[in-house]
Amino acid sequence: MIYLDYSATTPVSYDVLESYLKATKDFIGNPNSLHSLGVKSKTLMNTAIKQISELFNVLESEITFTSGATESNNMALIGACLANQHKGHHIIVSKLEHPSIYKICEYLEQNGFYISYVNNDEEGLIDFDDLKNKMREDTILVSICAVNSEVGIRQPLKMIRQIIKKENSNTLFHSDMTQAVGKIPVNFHDVDMASITAHKIFGPKGIGLFYKNSRVKIVPLIYGSGKSNELKPGTPAVPLIVSFSKALRLALTDLDKRENFVRRLNEKIVGEFQKLDGIILNQTKYSIPQILNISLKNIRPETLIHALEEYEIYVSTNTACASGELSTSIMAIYNDKKRAMSSIRISLSYITTTDEINRFLSYFKTIYHKLNELTD
Ligand code: PLP
Repeated sequence: MIYLDYSATTPVSYDVLESYLKATKDFIGNPNSLHSLGVKSKTLMNTAIKQISELFNVLESEITFTSGATESNNMALIGACLANQHKGHHIIVSKLEHPSIYKICEYLEQNGFYISYVNNDEEGLIDFDDLKNKMREDTILVSICAVNSEVGIRQPLKMIRQIIKKENSNTLFHSDMTQAVGKIPVNFHDVDMASITAHKIFGPKGIGLFYKNSRVKIVPLIYGSGKSNELKPGTPAVPLIVSFSKALRLALTDLDKRENFVRRLNEKIVGEFQKLDGIILNQTKYSIPQILNISLKNIRPETLIHALEEYEIYVSTNTACASGELSTSIMAIYNDKKRAMSSIRISLSYITTTDEINRFLSYFKTIYHKLNELTD
C-alpha cells in the first residue's frame, strides 16, 4: 500500500496507541469522581493537559478538548458570535477555509449574522488591503485558517492579527490550525482562538482541541454536568486526552528536518509531473510541501483515483470532506471552474519514504498514459 492522503487523516502511531491502551486499561475511574480511582484518572489527565499547555505555551485552563476540529470550529465561531452580538453581527472569513467553517457561516447567516469573504491574491495570500477595507466597527470575528487543506496555502497569522487589531481592537481572531500543526510551527499567541485535531498528527480519531485565550469570553454550546471544563461538560475522554498529548509531543519535534525531507519528495513528484501533458500544478510559493494539488485536463479525478486504488495507492479528490465537489480553494486562487472541478490532492508525511514515491510515480505514469489513451 502507498498511502498519500495524510492530510485527510493519518494512521495512529504505535506509541500513541500504546498510551491509549494503557490509559484505558489502568485508569478506569471517572476523573469527576471523588474516590481514589477518580483521583488517579484526574491526575493522569491533568498531567496530559499540562504537557499540552507547555507545548503551546498557554494556560491549562485555555484548553478544551472537543471531538475534533469541526467541533472546535463550531465552538469558536458560534460561541464568539453569541457572546458578542451586542457589539455587532459582522464576521470575516477567507475564501480558503475548510467546508466546516462555511457550514457554520451558513448557520450564522440564518441567525442574523453577516459574513464577508476576504480576497486573496493569485498566490493564495490574504489580501491585506481587502481585509482592512472589510473590517468594520461591528466586525466581531475574523476566522482565517493557518494552512489551507486543499492547496496547502500558509498564511502569516501574526501579520493578519496586527491588521485586525489595529482596525478594531474588539474583533476576535480565530484560526483553524488543523492542517498546520505537526507540519509547520504554530503559535496560539498569534490568535485569540484556535482549532486543531488529533487524527491529522498520528493521534486517535475522535478528539480535537479548542484553544481560547483566557481574556476571551464565549457562550458555551454544550450544557451538562461535570466540572472539568465549562465549555465541554461531561466525562472527559481520559485515554483520548492522554494519547493526544503523546501524539502532539511526537508531532512537534524536528519540524524543520521533516519539512525539508518532505519538500524533496514533493519536488521529485513535481519534476515528474511537469513532464506529463495535461497536468496542471495547483501550487504557489505559499504552499506547504506536505500538500501537493494538481488538476487534470483530460481525465476525471475520480477515474484516476480509482485506477490508482487498484494498485493500493491512495490519494484524494479535493479534501476528504468535499470529494467530488468544486474546490472552493482552487476557485479562490485561480478562478477557473474546470481546474477547480478536476483536482487531486496528494498529501505527504515525514513517514513517506523515497521508495514509496518512486513506486507511486512509476504506477502513476503507467496509469496516467493508459487513461489518456482511452480518452483520445
Ligand atoms: N479543518 C481543516 C482545515 C481540516 O483539514 C479538517 C479535516 O479535514 C477539519 C477542519 C475537520 O476536522 P475533524 O475531522 O477533526 O472534525
